[in-house]
Amino acid sequence: MKKNITVAVDGHSSTGKSTLAKQLAKQLNFIYVDTGAMYRAVTLHAYQNNLFSGTKLDQSQLLEQLHQLKINFQVNASNGQSEIHLNNVNIEDQIRNMEISERVSVIAQLPEVREKLVEIQQEMGKSGGIVMDGRDIGTVVFPNAELKIFMTASPKIRAQRRFDELKTKGEKVSFEQVYTNLMQRDEIDSNRKHSPLKQADDAILIDNSNLSLKEQFEMIKALIFCRSERD
Ligand code: C5P
Repeated sequence: MKKNITVAVDGHSSTGKSTLAKQLAKQLNFIYVDTGAMYRAVTLHAYQNNLFSGTKLDQSQLLEQLHQLKINFQVNASNGQSEIHLNNVNIEDQIRNMEISERVSVIAQLPEVREKLVEIQQEMGKSGGIVMDGRDIGTVVFPNAELKIFMTASPKIRAQRRFDELKTKGEKVSFEQVYTNLMQRDEIDSNRKHSPLKQADDAILIDNSNLSLKEQFEMIKALIFCRSERD
């Protein structure tokens, strides 16, 4: 495998992109970047500053404040994980609840928000040696990424995995709420005007509905090995 390649992991919501991307980054000794966390950080800012009325966003206020937002990742020395910071505050534990999940796709539709975050992402990945997961990594952020993976799974299975994860964290949610949120996010993400979620022509499609994490990782390692033999 060539050194410092770029690996793009895109796909539908709750398909285990970040789990796979983290495993790959560890195996390859690459940097891992969770771009969903960046869109969630902007959403948290809007939510905490009352820019939402229900799920309706005061777009002009957000756009006025956008330049004040400093979003970056810092390694947490206690667990070795790269964690998201908003204006120097670690917000890792505040961005994956339903309040944020129900609003994030509205924020992610805005071209100004995307432009700002894509610039940060491209800067982080400019030297390669990175595994980045999101929705537009292989199509927009790094269209020349050496390895692109597009992940999907059946909606019911995805919702069940997400529901189990939220329950473990003690969140009070119903399966229906989780299922509806995943379907709504996929719908908005796939149909938005700017950088919609779609599989890049040269991405490898993985449907992990019936794969365990171990099976999935072994399959992808084999694919990477085949590619590096071929290139
Ligand atoms: O990956 P995660 O589920 O945390 O992403 C949350 C939301 O952020 C997605 O549903 C999507 O609306 C948005 N997103 C995006 N582009 C990315 C990453 C995430 O639009 N590259």
